Amino acid sequence: MSKKNKRSVVKKVAIEPFWETKSLDDMTRTEWESLCDGCAKCCLHKFIDDENTTDETELMPTTHIVEGEQMNYSNIACYLLNDKSGQCSKYEQRTKLVPDCVQLTQENLDDVFFMPPSCTYRRLKEGRGMPSWHPLLNKGKKSAMHKAGMSVRGKIVKDDDVDIESFPDHIVVWPLHDID
Ligand code: SF4
Repeated sequence: MSKKNKRSVVKKVAIEPFWETKSLDDMTRTEWESLCDGCAKCCLHKFIDDENTTDETELMPTTHIVEGEQMNYSNIACYLLNDKSGQCSKYEQRTKLVPDCVQLTQENLDDVFFMPPSCTYRRLKEGRGMPSWHPLLNKGKKSAMHKAGMSVRGKIVKDDDVDIESFPDHIVVWPLHDID
């Protein structure tokens, strides 16, 4: 072959994304954190129908759900949520400011029963993979997620703006929706 006709062949090496090659347990802290889609559905108040609730225990936080009980999502969000960015406005201090705020980790994922079906951690744990609207598949942007209706944007009220006792008026089903 003459020098003129010589072509260099560039081979593209396909790099498989870490969430397809690693288990949740094996991910680094940075990888783990990057899985969060920022939907903020976990910042919504949830309520459990509990036959045994008394006046003293009603509206108290709980760490478990009993078989047969139903958990309902509301559109009432934590007052610390920045509803435009979908991020906590006081992320570093959140567990101090809101003592029942749960930090999701590789260690407690199995115990955190209230994550919505679309939560990336729950999806990966259940083997349902990454959804097409996830920011990691959209150049880090959240617009596909908002467009798909998978975030809380435009749908919430803050818990410092409503009487929490009026929660039955705020029960919603949209946080349970999920699409691939
Ligand atoms: S529900 Fe899951 S993916 Fe969505 S903001 Fe909360 S932790 Fe992140």
